[in-house]
Amino acid sequence: MITYTSLRRRLIALSFGVSLCTLFVACVAFFWRELSDSREQEGRRLLLATRVAAQSASAAVAFGDAGAAEEILGAFKALPSLEHAVLRNSSGSILAEYWRGGSAPSKPLHEQLDPEEISSSPEMVLAHADYVHIRNQITQSGEVIGELSVRADMKDLWGLVSESGQTTLVVFIVGSLISYFLGALLSTRLAQPIKELAASMEAISNSKDYSVRLVTQQKDEIGVLFHRFNEMLEQIEGRDCALREYQQTLEARVEERTAELVRERQQLLGLIKNAPVAIAMLDNEMRYMAHSKKWREDYGLGELELAGKSHYEIFPDIPERWREIHRKVLSGEPAHASEDCFDRKDGERIYLRWGMHPWFRAEGGQGGVVMVTDRIDDLVAAREAALQTAKTRSEFLTNMSHELRTPLNGIIGFADLLNEEHSLSPASREYVDSIHGAGKLLLALINDILDFSKLEQKKLGLEVATFQMGEVIRATERLFKGQVERKGLSFEVSDGFFEAQVRGDSLRLQQVLINLVGNAIKFTSKGSIRLGIEALRSDGDEYEALISVADTGIGIAASKQGRIFESFAQADGSTTRKYGGTGLGLAICVQLVELMGGRIWVESSEGVGSAFSFTVRLARVSQELSRPIQIPMEHSPSLAKEVVDTTGPRILVAEDNLMNQKLVRLILERAGYQVELVANGRLAIEASEKTEFAAILMDLQMPVMGGLDAVSHIRRREAGGTTHIPIVALTAHAFAEHRAQCVEAGIDGYLTKPINRQLLLTTLERFIAPKSGASKEGE
Ligand code: ADP
Repeated sequence: MITYTSLRRRLIALSFGVSLCTLFVACVAFFWRELSDSREQEGRRLLLATRVAAQSASAAVAFGDAGAAEEILGAFKALPSLEHAVLRNSSGSILAEYWRGGSAPSKPLHEQLDPEEISSSPEMVLAHADYVHIRNQITQSGEVIGELSVRADMKDLWGLVSESGQTTLVVFIVGSLISYFLGALLSTRLAQPIKELAASMEAISNSKDYSVRLVTQQKDEIGVLFHRFNEMLEQIEGRDCALREYQQTLEARVEERTAELVRERQQLLGLIKNAPVAIAMLDNEMRYMAHSKKWREDYGLGELELAGKSHYEIFPDIPERWREIHRKVLSGEPAHASEDCFDRKDGERIYLRWGMHPWFRAEGGQGGVVMVTDRIDDLVAAREAALQTAKTRSEFLTNMSHELRTPLNGIIGFADLLNEEHSLSPASREYVDSIHGAGKLLLALINDILDFSKLEQKKLGLEVATFQMGEVIRATERLFKGQVERKGLSFEVSDGFFEAQVRGDSLRLQQVLINLVGNAIKFTSKGSIRLGIEALRSDGDEYEALISVADTGIGIAASKQGRIFESFAQADGSTTRKYGGTGLGLAICVQLVELMGGRIWVESSEGVGSAFSFTVRLARVSQELSRPIQIPMEHSPSLAKEVVDTTGPRILVAEDNLMNQKLVRLILERAGYQVELVANGRLAIEASEKTEFAAILMDLQMPVMGGLDAVSHIRRREAGGTTHIPIVALTAHAFAEHRAQCVEAGIDGYLTKPINRQLLLTTLERFIAPKSGASKEGE
């Protein structure tokens, strides 16, 4: 607590102190002046008396009249301060002497005088603190005849001034008292209004009544202070009034808002209850505050009371990952999932789509969590069914194309062989050519469907091997040479990036090229086809190659250009009729190019031509690596001489399909090989045990025992020995995983159906020594 010193007292002390100091200084000055005046008066009196005595004594000194001299000195009795007077003649002998009190002191006073002082002047006054010494020469007719010296005691003067000192002291005391009372009076007058002001302030501060006003008659600064204080009170009163008014309206508004909130809350609860979705509102402790009917229905909660109960009490089987999500949402982070599943304790699996949001109280702070869930069991089941249907459809397509390829294989193969018969009439040769051509078209179509379904099933992988870009381009050029010439078109190839050794899937790259060049030729009746290739970018271990196929054909309308990359889409309905095709080629190209890390696009203008471009990423290689077995996409059949020499190397053919058996036998026997046919893997093992074959052609899918098992068996048998029968797989499957399985089982070569005669023979030649006697192609 602050302790205050009274202002009045401080003013009294101040004024009294100042008065006291002033009085003291005045009294001291007065006393000092009194003292010095007394001394001066006394000195003057003594001097005058000494002069008078000296003049009076001149006759007595001249005549040496001691009695007269004594008498003259006796007059000094009237001067009580004069304590000693001595009269000397010119010789310095004392003529008369006066002592105050009549007798000399024990020590003569004149001895105390300084001889120099005595002889220095005719009239000399020496004033000391305690005494005054006066010497006066006595002269007669201008001649010094003697001397009168007196000494007065100034100590007694103190006695004289003490009286005045007492008076001064009385004046000082009385003056002090008066100044004290006057100071007290003044201070009281000065401090009173301030005291009143302080008391008023205290009263106002206690009563908080700001309507009170202070009254004063004073016209000085204190009056101004009162006035200002009243102004301040006025302002406070104004604000106080405004505040009170605001408080009153605020209370009303709070009441109104509270009522509104209650109404809103009831509406919200009603809304939640009747919402057609499963919704629940929980507090920060995950206790139920509200929930919809659908929530009960979706989770089979029946009539169970939920209000106030913990979510985990209602659903004890909630997985930990969901509890973790609840914690996150409770910390203010919303969460959602478009598909999730909830495995109930009873084994039921529920599929859900859910969203969780924090909710906030009107007064601030998070109030809890709102959960909205949607059971999507039906949707998930429908999707799974659709996926299964798509899978079944794709599998059906794959199987169907395989099944179709086998008889087609026969049709094309036999047509090929028939074509080589010299005895055919020109008409028959034309029919055979038509059969062969139609078969090949059908095969291309089946291949497209097969590729498409494999791509759809994501079963088609890339086979990465080292190759030269130029090889792919040249092979494509060779393949279309005849067709281009027949249509009278020119085929130009820009030679960039030709010698680059790269790693990638050359066959798939060529497949895209064949599609684009095939289309370009198909849709161009005059002009040229240009094949361009360049390395767009070459960074680190990778090239990005840009390949373009441009033609001067019919072009594609801008509005159709987006659609043609979709499956089964053609620029217009008449295309199939006019040009053939299925609308699958570009769709396959898009997927293959994407598999190779690139993209494909078209720039075209109707009636002018089209330019299809695509990019692919290819790994860079510094030196050529050995090339693995390749399956050419296409082959140009050439006529073989009809040589039937059955003394050549023995080949075992394991193939269950009768037509294929026949075809392979014919091809091989015409090439001079001896052929032994078996229908399954088991028989192949037995036959290879009995006879030493130069090579085995092994179909992979056969009844009783498949080709892979038979090969594994044969390789196990050979283990430890020196023999190694070359085995070449013959299969309708062209998947990369089959190739890998073949290599693992110990197969040396790999050929796909439909059987390519040329490739079959060259592959066999790679494994069978030339001395064996088999005739070579083209011999
Ligand atoms: P297909 O050629 O078997 O019909 P594609 O997927 O290869 O199927 O082509 C789809 C369509 O794109 C074609 O039908 C044709 O309308 C259009 N198209 C493709 N290439 C060209 C081209 N070079 N010139 C004009 N139109 C083309």
